[in-house]
Amino acid sequence: MKITVENGKMIVPDNPTIPYIVGDGIGKDITPVALKVFDAAVEKAFGGKKKIEWMKILAGEEAIEKKGEPLPQETIDTIREYTVAIKGPLTTPVGGGYRSLNVTLRQVLDLFVCLRPVKYLKGVPSPMKHPELLDIVVFRENTEDVYAGIEWPYDTAEAAEVRNFLKNKMNVKLRDDSGIGIKPISVFGSERIGRAAIDYALKYGRKSVTVVHKGNIMKYTEGLFKNVIYALADAPEYKDKVVTEERVTKEFGGKVPEGKIVLKNRIADAMFQQLLLRPSEYDIIVTPNLNGDYLSDAAAAQVGGLGMAPGGNINFNTHVALFEATHGSAPKHAGKNEVNPSSLILSGAEMFQYLGWDKVKYMIIDAIEKTIAQKYVTYDLARQIEGATKVSTSEFGDRIIENLEA
Ligand code: NAD
Repeated sequence: MKITVENGKMIVPDNPTIPYIVGDGIGKDITPVALKVFDAAVEKAFGGKKKIEWMKILAGEEAIEKKGEPLPQETIDTIREYTVAIKGPLTTPVGGGYRSLNVTLRQVLDLFVCLRPVKYLKGVPSPMKHPELLDIVVFRENTEDVYAGIEWPYDTAEAAEVRNFLKNKMNVKLRDDSGIGIKPISVFGSERIGRAAIDYALKYGRKSVTVVHKGNIMKYTEGLFKNVIYALADAPEYKDKVVTEERVTKEFGGKVPEGKIVLKNRIADAMFQQLLLRPSEYDIIVTPNLNGDYLSDAAAAQVGGLGMAPGGNINFNTHVALFEATHGSAPKHAGKNEVNPSSLILSGAEMFQYLGWDKVKYMIIDAIEKTIAQKYVTYDLARQIEGATKVSTSEFGDRIIENLEA
């Protein structure tokens, strides 16, 4: 049955239909294993009362083969129609071919939040002394910034036109061999992700929301992003629930008033240090597209790398969401049944929480932790864990299923 949206609320039936994209390369190895884990976890959590009806949809190489194009309109329409979907990684041809399907999907479905939770799972090898101190959720803006695709090569008429406009009308000095890229950040785009991050913090009882920006340099883009989100602290719907860090210091003697979340801001470069040196002081992070790209990968490295990092692309207003593994299609490992399916499985766990089936999320996370504690792991972890037993993708999945506890 279809998930529907009524009066702005998502209604999830007991047997929701969820479209899935297998993905290219290692997508074929990890996706079937992940679906098997999801089915087992749902069955165990609800004793057969709930069940996902999986619906295969096409994108990437399989879509080219069967439909003659990498991203059929039908695929986009189906995700929109069924509201929540999940995907394996898709290959992007380098230097020609088609544009990144991942970026296209985010843009055409207006999935304005890239949600990247970063939390340590016990037993995962990490370069940190205390990786467990980091427990954050990055809200990376997905539709604006230098990722908007507004750019021209230096030697084109378009770039020349923009340079001439800037030189003649704006009195800007520019070299004639400059390529041009535009960084748009809007009030609309900043406000909607700011609201989504604050709402998420309130819903899940998190302590703070930190706006990470480079507004000291890019005042009218990144600075705008910070100012618009900060202004939300005074909005009627938030002023009893949110307090800025500056007010906590000035008016409340450094102590956060009971029941309120703190809104902070940090300059992006300093934030990379903060996450390493004072990880426990951060919780929800909201940031423009490019900062978010760097920061979420760096944070993932602190808890064991991309192979373990979940992600979802979400429009919190229409509720349309596409959860995905954060790594790519790793072609050299494809078809070998050897890679780690955890990123996709953990993305599914986030999807279950998004559906309101939180129990399934925590069961899956516990089962993965248990499997890693038993040292049954895929090659990427096996080479870092002493005394580990190296298992295949599917064996790892089966172990997780055995370790599921209601
Ligand atoms: P990649 O993430 O596919 O692989 C880089 C390396 O990371 C691999 O060689 C492998 O050693 C390791 N790795 C990745 N996933 C792993 C897993 N699940 N288990 C164990 N090890 C794993 O990055 P890439 O090689 O730069 O990109 C390959 C293709 O994937 C490109 O076409 C790229 O555009 C695409 N890509 C897609 C997505 C997406 O679908 N969201 C994201 C990133 C890259």
